[in-house]
Amino acid sequence: MPRCQNCDFKWSWKDVMKLSLTGKKECPNCQKRQYVSSRSTFWTTFLITMGFLIPMNVLRSYYEIGWPLIILAFLIYIPLALSLAPFLYKLSNTHKRFGKTVE
Ligand SMILES: [Zn+2]
Repeated sequence: MPRCQNCDFKWSWKDVMKLSLTGKKECPNCQKRQYVSSRSTFWTTFLITMGFLIPMNVLRSYYEIGWPLIILAFLIYIPLALSLAPFLYKLSNTHKRFGKTVE
């Protein structure tokens, strides 16, 4: 789980989920506003996408699974991946976009 960049408080899964929905949230311990760091957003999206595409490509080349099954697997995978995403997030004191600090 990510830690607050201000007070090193370890956030709960629920708090990180709330943060990932809105992009910003006050630390439950020190009340300083925290953001998801842009680098961790990139890597989380990347890992979630690859974690689906690679196994699906392997399955499709070895077994002839059809699109309905792939779509079904996708519908199962997304909630699972989103519930695991908080473990990959890192917190940040500032909100950076295109390398600039946005308040
Ligand atoms: Zn804190």
